[in-house]
Amino acid sequence: MAESKSNKRKCSFCGRSENEVGFLITGMNGYICDSCSEQAYEITKEAMGQGNNAKSATSLKLNELPKPLAIKEFLDQYIIGQDAAKRFLSVSVYNHYKRLLQTVNSDDVEIEKSNIIMVGSTGTGKTLLARTIAKLLHVPFTIVDATVLTEAGYVGEDIESILTRLLQVADYNVEEAEQGIVFIDEIDKIARKSDNPSITRDVSGEGVQQGLLKLLEGSIVNVPPQGGRKHPDQKMIPVNTKNILFICGGAFDGIEKKIAQRLNTHVVGYTASQKSAKIDKSNMMQYISPQDLKSFGLIPEIIGRLPVLTYLKPLDRDALRAILTEPKNSIIKQYVKLFDMDNIHLTFDESVFDYVVDKAVEFKLGARGLRSIVETIMIDVMFELPSKDAKEYNVTLNYAKAQLEKQNLSNLQMA
Ligand code: ADP
Repeated sequence: MAESKSNKRKCSFCGRSENEVGFLITGMNGYICDSCSEQAYEITKEAMGQGNNAKSATSLKLNELPKPLAIKEFLDQYIIGQDAAKRFLSVSVYNHYKRLLQTVNSDDVEIEKSNIIMVGSTGTGKTLLARTIAKLLHVPFTIVDATVLTEAGYVGEDIESILTRLLQVADYNVEEAEQGIVFIDEIDKIARKSDNPSITRDVSGEGVQQGLLKLLEGSIVNVPPQGGRKHPDQKMIPVNTKNILFICGGAFDGIEKKIAQRLNTHVVGYTASQKSAKIDKSNMMQYISPQDLKSFGLIPEIIGRLPVLTYLKPLDRDALRAILTEPKNSIIKQYVKLFDMDNIHLTFDESVFDYVVDKAVEFKLGARGLRSIVETIMIDVMFELPSKDAKEYNVTLNYAKAQLEKQNLSNLQMA
C-alpha cells in the first residue's frame, strides 16, 4: 500500500516518480526532485547574475586574504625588478580587500580607499603589473586607455565607459563591479596642456580630468550598459564608485626634468652641496612627488585622489636580460613551449640572449622589442621545423645574427 502511494508521487517538473529520483521535496501542490531543484538553483543563480566562478571578495575572510608579502612574491614570478611599485601595489591591494571586509558603524573609523598612480617610461611593466595582479584577485578587473576619453559630447568615449567595461567583466553584477579594480593607462595623456596657447577647448585634457574626478572620489555614476554614447532613451545602471580601486599608469615623458628643476630649486642654500651630492641623477624618477605631477599638468584635485604615488625604473641591460628568460612566462619559455607542442626540444646558446639584449638596447626598443627580435630570429625555424622530423633544435649565435641581418632592422624599430 505504502509502495503504490510513493509510486504516485512524481516530480512536478521532470515527471519522474519517487523511485527514479534521489528524493522528492513536497510542496503545496506538487513535488520537486533533487536534480530539478539543483537545476533550478543554477538557473536562479544565472538569472541573478552570479554565474561567474570568481569567489567574490566579500566572501573571503581576513585570514584568507593574500598578505602583501605573498602578493609581492606572486608578482616577482612574472615581473623583473620594480620593487618599489610592487610593494606599493601589494599593500594597496591588500588594503583594498580589507576595506571591502570592514563593517562600518557610524562612530567607527572608516578605511578610505587609496587609489594608486604609477609613473614610469613606456615598456617598463606598468600594464604587466596591473595584469598580473588581476590574476591573483577575486574582484572584477579591467584596463582602460585614457587616450580615448573625451568630455561628454565630443568624439571619443565618455568617462562613464570605464565603468561599462567593469560591469561587463562582472557579468553586469553591479555589486561585484562596485568592488572592482580599474587600471587607467596613459593617464599622462589627459594632462592639461598648460603651455598650449590655443583658444580651442581642451576637450581631452582638463575636462576629462574633471570628469574622472567624479569617478575617483566615489559617487554614484549612471553607466550606459553597452558603453558608447549615451542615448536619451537608454536605460542607465547606477554604479557606486566608492569601493572601486583605481590604479593609474603613465609614462609622463619629460617629468624627470620637472623633478630635477624642483630638486634644484630646493637645494639652493648653504646646505646645497651637501644635498645635491645625495641625488642619484641616473634615476630621477625615484624622487617623484605629487608636485611634479602638478607641474606636468594633472589638476590638484586628481592628484589628491591618487594618494599612492610610485614609480617604475627604466629597464637596464641586466633587467632586459632577465626579462628574456626568468619570468614564469618569459619570452624564451614561451618559444620552448611552442616547440614542445611539436615534440621538438628547443635550446639556445647563452650568447644568443646577450645578442638579443644588445640589439634591443641598440635600437632603443626596450622590453617590448625583445619579443620582436626573438620573433625575427625564430620565424624561419618556426615555419620549417614542424614539417621536418626534428626532435631537437639549438639556436646558435651565428644563426641569430644571420637571421636579424637578413631582416630590415628598421622594421623592428617600428614595432
Ligand atoms: P608599460 O605599461 O609600462 O608601457 P608593459 O607592461 O606593457 O609596459 O610592458 C611591455 C612588455 O614588456 C610586457 O608585456 C613584458 O613582456 C615586458 N616587460 C616590461 N617590463 C617588464 C618587467 N619589469 N618584467 C618582465 N617583463 C617586462
